[in-house]
Amino acid sequence: MRQPDQRLIDLYQELSDLTREICATCSPPFHCCQGESGQVGCWRAGWWAKNVYGIELEVPKLLDAAGNGRRPMISASGLNARARQSLAASYLTSTGCSVAAYMRPVCAMHVCPDRERPPRYQELMAAIALAEAERFR
Ligand code: SF4
Ligand code: SF4
Repeated sequence: MRQPDQRLIDLYQELSDLTREICATCSPPFHCCQGESGQVGCWRAGWWAKNVYGIELEVPKLLDAAGNGRRPMISASGLNARARQSLAASYLTSTGCSVAAYMRPVCAMHVCPDRERPPRYQELMAAIALAEAERFR
């Protein structure tokens, strides 16, 4: 398995910081990380980490009394039994996702089409596409 270099990790992180800022203003914050869309996103992150980088993501813990930590999944309807079993909890925390951005590329770049994206967003997307292509050359 080929690991990303630090530059690619940093590009994903910067992109994720941009989208997190937007999604934190959603109602509820990080809306897409909750419910079924969140379950799919978390499952996809787990798959990506394991199959692309050989990393098993730690199973998240629940929020503590102060609201820190990771939230449990909200609903598992619509997924088959096997998918439900692998989705005991979400990687969402009170301040955003707890998974490194390069291990959840789709989540890191996702933001609603009706939200204004900062100019840096497209630059980062282009730089990531180039860096990912170079990685597999
Ligand atoms: S992608 Fe859109 S709906 Fe989803 S959390 Fe971000 S701003 Fe909210
Ligand atoms: S951003 Fe994190 S918490 Fe949200 S769906 Fe993706 S992996 Fe799950």
